[in-house]
Amino acid sequence: MASMAAREQKRAEILDGRSAAGSIKQDVAEEVRRLKETSGVTPCLAAVLVGEDPASAVYVRNKVRSCEEVEIASRKITLSDSTSTKELLKVVAELNADDEVDGILVQLPLPKQIDDERIIESIDPAKDVDAFHPTNVGLLAMGRPRFVPCTPAGIIELLERNKIEIAGANACVVGRSQIVGRPVASLLLQRHATVTICHSKTRDLPSVTRQADILIAAIGRPAFIRGDFIKPGATVIDVGVNRLSDATQAREIFGAEADKRIAAISEKGYTLVGDVHPAEADLVAGRRSPVPGGVGLLTVAMLMRNTVQAAKWRRSR
Ligand code: NAP
Repeated sequence: MASMAAREQKRAEILDGRSAAGSIKQDVAEEVRRLKETSGVTPCLAAVLVGEDPASAVYVRNKVRSCEEVEIASRKITLSDSTSTKELLKVVAELNADDEVDGILVQLPLPKQIDDERIIESIDPAKDVDAFHPTNVGLLAMGRPRFVPCTPAGIIELLERNKIEIAGANACVVGRSQIVGRPVASLLLQRHATVTICHSKTRDLPSVTRQADILIAAIGRPAFIRGDFIKPGATVIDVGVNRLSDATQAREIFGAEADKRIAAISEKGYTLVGDVHPAEADLVAGRRSPVPGGVGLLTVAMLMRNTVQAAKWRRSR
């Protein structure tokens, strides 16, 4: 009984994305000031939002607000839901040609009628601050990245700032998307982790994830990674952002935080949950990144950093 009580009291250390993001933004703001002083240049990010997707609108609003915080100039281009591929290609071409614009991001997902691959490939790789253009994907895969995609870069920042040893560690990434899974696996490999990538066809997933000293969950399924998926003491990075509106499920998933989360459901209609089951993970993991307040905040901070890099590189070519 005593050991069960001790086990129930154990809680994984929480990896705070807010303080890491704050310190990255401070560094970026300092660099922006230096750039203005030395060369009169104010970096500028153009964010293109197509359609009415509410989550995309929130992401773009947060990105523009972060630009204001670090004194990067921003332009928000809002286009209707019925925009065609041709019309969007024209907007991107204008931004490519505009010498004042350093970074271009086209918020994904795009409406169904738009060919998103053509759009991504039309962005000037030197302004591709999301790092989704094949040139930037290729450079990253070769181990000599120019821009690093923002969420994977944020994950590495979170690990490094918390002094979690990557070299030699068994790292397992669940998810193989172009945006998160594949690039974060490349970055971990470059830092000498032994990397396993899992996906929907992986057999006996928990037996694979349980080998990991560093477990990254980028799946898009609420609280999917349960306690028995996690090696005791492992570092668990939760990339998932899912909306949960069921109060009974929230009670089961959030443990001590459940009342707060249920109140959020009553107020807004939902609360955010990651891909990791927080109450179970806290009993097994050594460290865990929370949702919200973890990787998401770092993603935006890394976008600011990429925009300043773009401004510097473009002018040094
Ligand atoms: P995605 O493109 O839908 O990819 C999901 C991946 O998870 C796929 O590779 C899929 O495998 C795998 N998967 C699905 N079900 C699985 C299962 N039962 N077992 C094992 N693997 C499974 O998603 P994404 O864009 O990478 O995003 C993942 C999550 O991260 C989402 O919740 C998203 O909202 C969040 N996200 C957060 C941020 C942030 O800034 N915090 C940024 C981007 C994404 P297959 O390849 O076999 O289909």
